[in-house]
Amino acid sequence: MEDTFGRKIEYLRLSVTDRCNLRCRYCMPADGVESMDHVSVLSYEELLRVARVATRCGVKKIRVTGGEPLVRRGIVDFIRELAALPGSPEITLTTNGLLLADMAADLRRVGLSRVNVSLDSLREDRFAYITRRSGVDKVLAGLKEAEAAGLTPLKINMVPLKGVNEDEIGDFARLALESPWEIRFIEFMPVSGGLDFTPEHMFPASAILEELGKVAKLIPLLRQGPSGPARMFHFPESPGKIGVIPAISDHFCGECNRMRITSDGRIRPCLFSTEELDLRGALRNRVSDTELEELLGTAACAKPERHHIGEETFRQGLRRMHGIGG
Ligand code: SAM
Ligand code: SF4
Repeated sequence: MEDTFGRKIEYLRLSVTDRCNLRCRYCMPADGVESMDHVSVLSYEELLRVARVATRCGVKKIRVTGGEPLVRRGIVDFIRELAALPGSPEITLTTNGLLLADMAADLRRVGLSRVNVSLDSLREDRFAYITRRSGVDKVLAGLKEAEAAGLTPLKINMVPLKGVNEDEIGDFARLALESPWEIRFIEFMPVSGGLDFTPEHMFPASAILEELGKVAKLIPLLRQGPSGPARMFHFPESPGKIGVIPAISDHFCGECNRMRITSDGRIRPCLFSTEELDLRGALRNRVSDTELEELLGTAACAKPERHHIGEETFRQGLRRMHGIGG
C-alpha cells in the first residue's frame, strides 16, 4: 500500500478502546469522557478482519493501543489471534503499565513482541498529579515483569512538560545507564483543546537534548529502519538507548509509514489531521474484502504530505489522544 507521495504504509495502529484507568491531564479531562456504547466500538472480530486485509495490503507491524488497551476484556485472546494472522505481522502494544505486571507473561505467551510503557514521572506525588490517579509502583512492577517475560527491548515513553516534570528528564535518562531499555522523550502534542495542558507546556526537543547532555555525553546513533520518528542516541558504554521525538518542532512526515484506526472505527490517515474515513460503516454494510482493501488504499492516499501542527493554520480537533491511540 503506497500513498500519493510514494510512502509505503506498513504500520497499523489499532485503538481497541477509548476507555482508560488513568486520566492523564494531557489526554483526558478530569471527569473522564462519556463512555462510548459497546455498539460504537469495533468488535474484535471486526478489528481482526481489518488487520487481516491490511496485512494483505503490505502491513507488517500492528501496534495495539487505546485508551488503555489492557482494560478491554479479552485483549490477550485478541492478541493471540492478531499474532496468528497470515504473514505473521509483528504485534506490539502501548500501555500505561498499570495492569502489566499481571498480564505480561500471558501477553508474551500469545505472541506479543514488545511493549512501550508510558510513564511521565518516577515520583508518586507527581505521577498522581499528572495522571490524577496513583500507581507508579504498579507501573514499575509492570516494567519488571515485562522484561522478565521477554517483551523486549522495553521502551518507556515520557512526555516532558514545562513546569511539571521536565526536571525528571535526567532521572529517566539514567535508567538507560543501568538497563537495556530505550527511554523515549516525546514532545507534548496539543492535538485537541479542553485539557489542562496547553501548547505553552510543550518542552521542546532542543531543551530535552540540553537536559540529556547534563547526564553524560550523548552520542547519536544511525537511524534504524526507515520510519521511526525518534532520533536515537546512547551514552558511552550504557546498555540502554535514548530516543527523542520532536513531534512538533521537527517532523519525519516524509518517512511516515503508519495509519491509525480509532476504536469507533474511523481510519485516521494522519495523527495531526482531523480527516477520518468511515471504516465501521463499511464493515457493517458488509463490504467485500476487495472493497475494504480499496478503502484502506483511499485512506493511504488521504495522508497529507506533512503535518501543520504548530503553524498558524493548524486547528485543534475534538478527538483527544485517548480516542486516537497516540
Ligand atoms: N494508554 C496507553 C498509554 O498511555 O500508553 C495507550 C494510549 S496513549 C493515548 C498513547 C501515548 O500517547 C502515550 O505514550 C501517551 O503518553 C501519549 N500521549 C497522550 N496524549 C499526548 C499528548 N497530548 N502529547 C504527547 N503524547 C501524548
Ligand atoms: Fe490513559 Fe494513555 Fe491517555 Fe493516559 S495517555 S489518559 S494512560 S490513554
